[in-house]
Amino acid sequence: MARVRIDLPDRLRVRGRGRVELQDAAAGRTHGWDEERALEATARLAVELEELQYKLFADGRYGILVVLQAIDGGGKDSTIRHVFSAFNPQGCAVRAFKAPSAEELRHDFLWRIHQHVPPRGELVVFNRSHYEDVLVVRVDGLVPERVWRARYRQINDFERMLGENDIRVVKLFLHISKGEQRRRFEERIHDPRKQWKFDPQDLRKRAQWPAYRRAFGDMLGRCNTRHAPWYVVPSDHKWVRDLAVAQIMHATLSSLPLRFPSPRFNPRSMRVR
Ligand code: AMP
Ligand code: MG
Repeated sequence: MARVRIDLPDRLRVRGRGRVELQDAAAGRTHGWDEERALEATARLAVELEELQYKLFADGRYGILVVLQAIDGGGKDSTIRHVFSAFNPQGCAVRAFKAPSAEELRHDFLWRIHQHVPPRGELVVFNRSHYEDVLVVRVDGLVPERVWRARYRQINDFERMLGENDIRVVKLFLHISKGEQRRRFEERIHDPRKQWKFDPQDLRKRAQWPAYRRAFGDMLGRCNTRHAPWYVVPSDHKWVRDLAVAQIMHATLSSLPLRFPSPRFNPRSMRVR
């Protein structure tokens, strides 16, 4: 069987360190893929991802931290369900970050984050992350500007430290258009299976759309580093999103020099009686 073409990571990777201007039109791009081929390719990638993760675990020298960020309705939960379910739960965890507790607020903003970074050999997905501290915190003015401004550098320092300790950081921004967000909110409001997901606060955040666009754009530029790159994933079409995320995970895992440890015994001298 032909290998799956890995064309999206290179196209979706953020270039440079300037503010990224997010355009609604980019959220619906398909990059030449159609739904049928994308679904088939994603399914084939899932099989390879499981095998790569098996090797990551056996090798034990590298960990992978995946950061998922999006505007509300962007599809973080659904990406986890569709793509990250390919991985063996022994060695893959998901951690969701909500508004900080009173205790968490007494610490520096990275305190609650660092303890959930994966150990070597494992993979952890952050559903929201330390980036909320330069997103909702910035847009709602929860701390003074000098505090959130300093965080771009503090985040880069933190992620560099992780990289130097063999934790690869992969950051995915799920990009949806304002029209697609409306469709998804309306579905959440009217579909009894989805109503639990809708938070009336989400409408307040939607009204702050331009401020969020700026905050996301700055985050994508200022924290785009060699050791922890950002990817902008077109997410209006779920099948493009899932294919892109599967490809990015495949490229990331394949870039590691993974190997099975050599046995601590001589197989020829072993007899199982
Ligand atoms: P959800 O992911 O839809 O369950 O919502 C989680 C909520 O927690 C979102 O409204 C986030 O903006 C909020 N949140 C997450 N991290 C922070 C943070 N560091 N400061 C303030 N709010 C946060
Ligand atoms: Mg929500």
